[in-house]
Amino acid sequence: MNRYLQSVEKLQEARTYVAGGVASSLRASMKPTPLYVQKAFGARILDVDNHEYIDYMLAYGPLILGHAHPAYNEQIYEAMQNGSTYGLQHDGEIRLGQRLTEILPCAEQVAFSGSGTEAVMLALRLARAYTGKTKTVRFYGHYHGWSDAIFTSFPSPDFSSNGHSAAASGIIQGTGGQSQNSLQDLIVLPWNDPEALEETLTKHQHEISAVITEPVMCNSGCISPLPGYMEKMRELTSKFGIVLIWDEVITGFRLGLGGAHERFGIDPDLVTIGKAMAGGVALSAVAGKRDIMHLIEEGTVMHLGTLNGNSLATAAGLAVIQELSKSEGQAFKDMDRTATMLTEGIRSILKANGLQAVVNQQGPVFHLMFIDRTEVADFDTFNLRDSQLYTRFAEEMLHEGVLVRPNGLWYVSTAHGEKEVLETLAAVERVAQRIA
Ligand code: PLP
Repeated sequence: MNRYLQSVEKLQEARTYVAGGVASSLRASMKPTPLYVQKAFGARILDVDNHEYIDYMLAYGPLILGHAHPAYNEQIYEAMQNGSTYGLQHDGEIRLGQRLTEILPCAEQVAFSGSGTEAVMLALRLARAYTGKTKTVRFYGHYHGWSDAIFTSFPSPDFSSNGHSAAASGIIQGTGGQSQNSLQDLIVLPWNDPEALEETLTKHQHEISAVITEPVMCNSGCISPLPGYMEKMRELTSKFGIVLIWDEVITGFRLGLGGAHERFGIDPDLVTIGKAMAGGVALSAVAGKRDIMHLIEEGTVMHLGTLNGNSLATAAGLAVIQELSKSEGQAFKDMDRTATMLTEGIRSILKANGLQAVVNQQGPVFHLMFIDRTEVADFDTFNLRDSQLYTRFAEEMLHEGVLVRPNGLWYVSTAHGEKEVLETLAAVERVAQRIA
């Protein structure tokens, strides 16, 4: 009897009405089957077959407060009593805008949108309009959403798409149906390579509008920047009149309220934030320097979206900030501690069972990779990991009541504590014995 029978049957039914049966291609990669959920609470999720899991997928990042956080839910519910969206302005936009400019060191103004993809689209457009240049520098292994202008092939088991082909620029399409022309404006570089960056920016300075980077390469191994690399990127982009965009869709509200740029003490010109910012409601933003953001007010750059800044989303954003800023950042210290207990435990259990693995942790997010190395500090090494073994691990963990992403990135929320850690490590022990 299939353990996941109800999910399998629901997926079959969904396929009749929903293209691919799931609402995002990424979710189709879940093994042994995409799960259907009954309900979720705190750090746990219950599927339609009545299996309970400790959830480290956390909806791919947004659920920084866990599921159905009471105070968060209450504030959203309260806001909704006055209507969830107006197509008009309301105080929630002002309050959230104000809080973000206080929290994010680089933010003088913000612009709201609904997803990380849209925020990146807007940031790139602002950079082109501001500089009068068209090219964008991005890096291998980073992910910036799925819009035509930035989506390139992303070698991860999460992203499997047929229909890839190389554009004239030599850059691999991220998906079939993508405009070849959109990739002409991209320059893709290896990350953490200051020489490659300096050489390219020097050579193409008159064409490059923006450098966009994840401040920590969360999407490929949770790899930190080398000492001095981000400083060099800041120095070079300033020197050549190039807009520096930090894509903090994952790191924003995760490495601290002020994201990675607060942690590293470097101000990019623009940041994009989303995911954890609204704790599970669709909301994202571009934030940054007033003279760039001003292009929106001037009417030079169009910023559109029917549901932008709706009162449900701003209430969610304000609720997240309120919860996370309680007791002077204790929430982040607690999440760091929980994640550290997990990563230390996982490392030692895997080692004791003869499984070679690397765990890269950045606060409450970490990447677990099965690999015959002692460290993973670049994208090439990341690509040497044993993804098949990890997929098996993830599937076995599911049978043990622990839900993890198929690509190895784990998220921790404020709802995860010692109880969850101990249960998880016991599950890791059992799984390690089976797969070793
Ligand atoms: N930027 C980064 C760094 C991301 O990790 C993601 C999504 O995973 C995005 C942008 C796109 O965000 P969304 O899925 O909300 O469109």
